[in-house]
Amino acid sequence: MKKLTKELIRETGYKFGLDLIGFANIERFKNAPERMNPKNIFPEGKTVIVVGKRILRGGWRGIEEGTNWISYTYFDYHGLLNTFFIPEPLYQLACFIEDFGYEAVPYYPGVPEAQPPVKPLRKNFPPPDVHLAIRIAGICAGLGEIGWSKVFLTKKFGPRQRLHAIITDLEVEPDPLIKPGSICKRCMECVNDCPSYAIPHIKENKKIQIKIEDYVYEWADIHLGKCTLSYHGGDSRVSPFIHKDFPGWNIDARKQDFSEETAYKFCWTLSTGRWRKTEEFPSGYIIEGHAMLQKWGEGGSFGICGSRGCMRSCFNYLEKKEVIEQRFKGGEFIKRKRWLLPYKVKKG
Ligand code: SF4
Ligand code: SF4
Repeated sequence: MKKLTKELIRETGYKFGLDLIGFANIERFKNAPERMNPKNIFPEGKTVIVVGKRILRGGWRGIEEGTNWISYTYFDYHGLLNTFFIPEPLYQLACFIEDFGYEAVPYYPGVPEAQPPVKPLRKNFPPPDVHLAIRIAGICAGLGEIGWSKVFLTKKFGPRQRLHAIITDLEVEPDPLIKPGSICKRCMECVNDCPSYAIPHIKENKKIQIKIEDYVYEWADIHLGKCTLSYHGGDSRVSPFIHKDFPGWNIDARKQDFSEETAYKFCWTLSTGRWRKTEEFPSGYIIEGHAMLQKWGEGGSFGICGSRGCMRSCFNYLEKKEVIEQRFKGGEFIKRKRWLLPYKVKKG
């Protein structure tokens, strides 16, 4: 039988359809909080293999032009990309590793901050569920860095990818870490084009810092409440659907100070909740357009803002500066003057 090496895993993973594969040793997670530490999922784990697949640039075309939302939600946001296109090859790769006699824990990237308060089941272990901070795992595996926007950036695709992982007891040499600042150019395009002002400017000095080996990585301390309002359907500047269903709306996401959880509670209730059918609003939904996106989108979630600043403006800039490797023949992604709706919605 062949020896299982990093090269063989990489070659096989690419063949299965993954675009990114990096290797971290477990030691790189030594500063991780207990509830985000892979050793607490698999105590014998020696290596965390972080894998990713690109988000299509074209996935955002409809939102960029203001004409189609469902494609991004269905394929590229929490849709097929996260629930099928990555998990399928990831699972095959985990099977491949186990065929060599190493245990391979397939890891689905949950949301660490959404953990309910539960007591630990065993002494010296944290309570369930343990979730990796998948972007930090991506840094540990040498795949890229976190940009100022808090979005994970790689040299190949800039901000356009989603990540999952495998934790295994196979021991391999970790990939080298990416030097901080080698992808994010601190251009502030993400800050300038974020509709809800969720990303503080570098001059505000509001940032998060972590140290992995000898490198210090830092990024903006994002206002997650404002971002969630724009992303999940509480911001009329990016949602034509609010304009249809909420005449008189006067909520400016830029001025709100919700926590992330409060913003979710607000947006999801409005976006997916039902209301009586009337002549004025015959659909039976509070915001019909959002409800349809959530209904049609694979994986349960839906995206309205479509990462206007933190992804679309970011890769537009990084492509222009030739920082990212994937090139497109048709020129810049942002081809026309961009749209933003007024936050006040006219009545009638
Ligand atoms: S737009 Fe991208 S490259 Fe520019 S500062 Fe933001 S994260 Fe960094
Ligand atoms: S998803 Fe939208 S609201 Fe959130 S940070 Fe990115 S651009 Fe701003």
